[in-house]
Amino acid sequence: MRVVLMVIATLITLGLAAFGIVAAQKTTISFSSLAAAAGGARYVRSVTVRPPPAAAVRIAAAGATTLSSPVSSDAPAGAAPMHIAENAVPAVPIAENAVPAMPAPAKVTAPSQASPAVSNIPVCDKPGGIGLSRIVEIDTTGGPAFGFEHFKQYDFLRDKEVVLTFDDGPWPANTPAVLKTLNDNCLKATFFEIGEHATWHPELTKELVAAGETIGSHTWSHKDLARNPYASDLEKAKAEIEMGVSAVHMAAGASIAPFFRFPDLQHPPAMLAYLASRNIATFSTDIDSRDFKMHRPEQVIKSVMRQLERRGKGIVLLHDFRHNTAEALPELLRQLKAGGYGIVHMVPRAPVTTLPQYDKMVMQQDKLSVTNTRPISSVVRTIGRN
Ligand SMILES: [Zn+2]
Repeated sequence: MRVVLMVIATLITLGLAAFGIVAAQKTTISFSSLAAAAGGARYVRSVTVRPPPAAAVRIAAAGATTLSSPVSSDAPAGAAPMHIAENAVPAVPIAENAVPAMPAPAKVTAPSQASPAVSNIPVCDKPGGIGLSRIVEIDTTGGPAFGFEHFKQYDFLRDKEVVLTFDDGPWPANTPAVLKTLNDNCLKATFFEIGEHATWHPELTKELVAAGETIGSHTWSHKDLARNPYASDLEKAKAEIEMGVSAVHMAAGASIAPFFRFPDLQHPPAMLAYLASRNIATFSTDIDSRDFKMHRPEQVIKSVMRQLERRGKGIVLLHDFRHNTAEALPELLRQLKAGGYGIVHMVPRAPVTTLPQYDKMVMQQDKLSVTNTRPISSVVRTIGRN
């Protein structure tokens, strides 16, 4: 009997132990299930919060003077790091020009604001003035490059749209003449200024800024960076670019665009990569007027109009440095209007940042007029005479 009782007691103990093991296993399983569930939830959340595939192009609600106000900026995961906000008549965001190219981090932004149903570009109050047809905002993150003559990635212009760009200024008489023509027509353009020229005439750069033009840079002294010594000396090439940025920025006395154009449209790959690292966009051209080879304004007009007829649209390269171009502009604009072309203004999403060492190098140049912008009457005055 005692043996029987001991056997029963042992059996009960074994049973309890077995139950404990099962319970422990259950607990373990249940913890790993939780862990798995948590991982799954994380995965699901990351999918859920990823922005929906949207376009690299977006409609902005803001006008020319309020472009910094927040607008929708959903980026497609894995799409190119460029956003173009378009200020046009359409009232709702339109997806277009999504050109997936370089992987970019997904950007989660505020939901889009309702766009106004009407144009937010002021009506041109100048008699016979053309007025802008659209304003596009360019996000230069990662250094996108534009201009079909060399870069075919971002085709943001619609048919019959033209962007006006002017190189090699600022220059007395010609730059003010170009600006007057633009103002007379309520139009805006992008100016790729040479740093050295900007230090000689900072007052002209400031006039462009005051008029709301977009200011980019075009190196310090217009050197072809694909040639030696720049081609073989990257630091020298970098200094040409950066001193140009610093000088134009200083002359402007305000923020300028991270927009750059290479002299002679020569694009050394190492410098393109450098600009990309600086989040500066490169602009080649769609339509090179070659106005620097022409003497008469009619030739400039014909050159642009003929090429536009072929291409239908494009970023046009002109030179505000040139007298013939300044003279040609009023008639060129008349012909563009008559031909049904609309002028598009490009603005940057964020300003360029200059690098202090190059700011210093510009300040150390012989021409320091950039830092001496006070009028002569406030610097020198007659305090005695006979
Ligand atoms: Zn040039």
